Amino acid sequence: MKKIAIMGSTGSIGTQTLEVVRNNPELKVTALACGNNINRMEEQIREFMPSLAVMWTKEAAEELKVRVADLSVKILYGMDGLLAMATQEEAEILVTAIVGMIGIRPTIAAIEAGKTIALANKETLVCAGHLIMPLAKKKGVSILPVDSEHSAIFQSLQGQPKAKISKILLTASGGPFRHYTKDMLENITPEDALKHPNWNMGRKITIDSSTLVNKGLEVMEAKWLFDVDFSQIQVVVHPQSVIHSMVEYVDGGIMAQLGTPDMKLPIQYALFYPDRKFLPGKRLDFYELAQITFEKPDMETFRGLKLAYEVGERGGSLPTVFNAANEKAVALFLDKKIRYPEITEIIEECVARHKRIENPSVEEILNAECEVYQYITEKYKEI
Ligand code: NDP
Repeated sequence: MKKIAIMGSTGSIGTQTLEVVRNNPELKVTALACGNNINRMEEQIREFMPSLAVMWTKEAAEELKVRVADLSVKILYGMDGLLAMATQEEAEILVTAIVGMIGIRPTIAAIEAGKTIALANKETLVCAGHLIMPLAKKKGVSILPVDSEHSAIFQSLQGQPKAKISKILLTASGGPFRHYTKDMLENITPEDALKHPNWNMGRKITIDSSTLVNKGLEVMEAKWLFDVDFSQIQVVVHPQSVIHSMVEYVDGGIMAQLGTPDMKLPIQYALFYPDRKFLPGKRLDFYELAQITFEKPDMETFRGLKLAYEVGERGGSLPTVFNAANEKAVALFLDKKIRYPEITEIIEECVARHKRIENPSVEEILNAECEVYQYITEKYKEI
């Protein structure tokens, strides 16, 4: 029996992780955490019977306590609750399926406590990879990727000498606005941007996929997970999302992982690694597959990707600023307070005005995030 705790259980990755649990009796959920979605959390508690549930606010936790008073589940809230979950004695694996930098402290706490991390929360590695990866190494803890591209790279590395990697080929669907010109991006609405051609994901990551900022975050995530230089990570636009990513070795040989776009595969692979289990669902049919194509990403129109490479190379606190500015800008765009191209403009502005800190501590990372949030909130408060 594998015991897992899921941070962000009510979201896109969280609910798909629970689908995997539903299909695998050898998985047991020990803890669940979400923001304030009390209804879904109550349903999940009744179905999966964890011993701990965490809500973000005290009010949500109080209400949940009343709703599940007939059960013996412990209810906590806030960061203390997330930290208690991350270090929960009975859990072996922590699935980090929360959005944003809020995942940093619980992830570090879980590594300190020796838990395996199934990592979806890429923002944690983007901002604190320099703290997390050495700590995981020191503690002998595995960080198993859940992001489909990183899982594909991880799968393509199995049985291969890591020192012989020549480059990583990180595939990208190109999003719904592939081939758009700068002018065409002007009038994009949240409704347009929330329609991803191949993947069904949470709202923030769907917008990030459309701006290619998500690919930029993934480039930084790949750098930390696989310990390669940025010059070794090449983004390849592959609109059909059949090849989930590839690794090229020094002899020119390329290993790739292919499949239908279904996040349950990378989730399940992380939960059972190194084993593979049956996963119900559609299989790739090569007779049906008319063609698969590849292109170079347009980094002049989608400047977020280019900036991610620059910010990643310079490192320090800059990736935090990039990520925080993007989070805030995406929220403003979804609230219809800014135009679509302003997402990238805001990131560029925040990165340009930031005084970079070398090797930031968790506190410095969170302060940098806070400063960016305050700056953007102040600037756009009248809108
Ligand atoms: P969603 O927005 O769908 O879900 C976010 C989850 O986090 C929800 O359960 C939400 O709870 C919870 N949450 C939000 N705020 C808090 C908080 N303060 N405390 C505790 N829980 C909180 O996001 P996704 O599932 O799409 O993404 C999760 C992570 O996985 C992101 O880092 C994303 O980049 C990454 N990822 C996602 C993929 C996907 O296919 N969706 C693919 C690869 C990576 P509530 O419902 O209560 O708000």
